[in-house]
Amino acid sequence: MTVVRNIQVKLDVSEDAHSLLDETFEQFRHAAQYVSEYGWDDDPTEIIDDQKQLNAATYDEVRELTELHANHVQSARSLASTALGNCQDRILDEGKKASKPTFCGTVVVYGARTVTYNDDHCTLATVDGRVRAEYVTPYDDEGTPFAEYWSTDEWERREATLHKRDGTYYLHVAVKKDPETDASTTQNGVVLGVDLNVDGSVAVTSTGAFLGNADYLRHKRDGYEQRRGCLQQTGTRSAHLTIQSIGDRFARWSEDYLHRVSKAIVQEARRHDCSAIAFEDLEQIRERISNASKFQQWAFRAVRQYTEYKAEEYGILVDTVQPAYTSQRCSHSDCGFTHEDNRDGDGFECLKCGKQLHSDYNAARNIGWRLVQYWLKSGSGRASCQVALKSGTVNANGEFSPAESIGQSGSPLTSPPL
Ligand SMILES: [Zn+2]
Repeated sequence: MTVVRNIQVKLDVSEDAHSLLDETFEQFRHAAQYVSEYGWDDDPTEIIDDQKQLNAATYDEVRELTELHANHVQSARSLASTALGNCQDRILDEGKKASKPTFCGTVVVYGARTVTYNDDHCTLATVDGRVRAEYVTPYDDEGTPFAEYWSTDEWERREATLHKRDGTYYLHVAVKKDPETDASTTQNGVVLGVDLNVDGSVAVTSTGAFLGNADYLRHKRDGYEQRRGCLQQTGTRSAHLTIQSIGDRFARWSEDYLHRVSKAIVQEARRHDCSAIAFEDLEQIRERISNASKFQQWAFRAVRQYTEYKAEEYGILVDTVQPAYTSQRCSHSDCGFTHEDNRDGDGFECLKCGKQLHSDYNAARNIGWRLVQYWLKSGSGRASCQVALKSGTVNANGEFSPAESIGQSGSPLTSPPL
């Protein structure tokens, strides 16, 4: 399964090149419009969106009328063809209204023959040769999305669209890769169990990693709420604008924080060669999150969603399990003794076998185990699936296998704060 991501790159182009790019925008728009006029008909059954037909009817004229690169002529036609097809579907299939597609002047589609990517700059075809555009977005700053997708060979750089906003040029590049493994088809699998919390660590894994600090997150949130409350009482227009700006800043900060937690979860899964990550089904954790604020509930969903997004790039599956008793069950080998008195806050001590564990860590192991159980019972064909633990794996029967080598890549993950 191919994974595609879109990244935005801010460009720096010399003043001389501006007019060339602007003229390219205009001619590209004109080309797409020309094809759109040709293919359009007030009778929706007569609309032509077939690429071949449109090509035969318009290619020569468009080349005659513009100075566009031949591939830009084709890209403009594809754009028009898609728009015409969408209009036709809207009218005929959905019974809605649609009018002839019109194109605005600030998009140019680039493909293999019209853009060349280099590490720190690209060259773009225009109506008169190529121009060089430097990337303003730093490509070697570790941790930025651009660097993540640009600095490795894992991602193949594909087509792009050029845009202009407020006088600045941006390239939106599609990058793609085929993950080496595809968890949905794997016969066996190692599962990383993840327990999410509203206090202590945001996420605790079955491998014993404590990631993110839920108390810190709540503290930051409280601070933001307090400031907002004060400003609201002020009631002035400038106070209102400040509320908006601190709100945006807090939203960005918390999203970024949770993205890092999710990334650490996926790194942990990779470090232990896991092919799946298990969370509890949030809809069902009523008892545990009934006291949680809307913000904390949002945070849970965000971690789950960001993890899914990131895991997909490595062919790692994300699944959910029933949350019942994950915090009361003893996860030690084949014990499985379940009792509410096993847990006392952060501490878990099995009343039957006496095993002591951090209670969130115990829960995470149970969450992983539950997915393994589910796989076995549902006959998914995964005969030897296991849960990843600190120094090995445990199978559905509680049999432990020590790991041969753990941590072949990356450094050990740190405890909170991230
Ligand atoms: Zn026990």
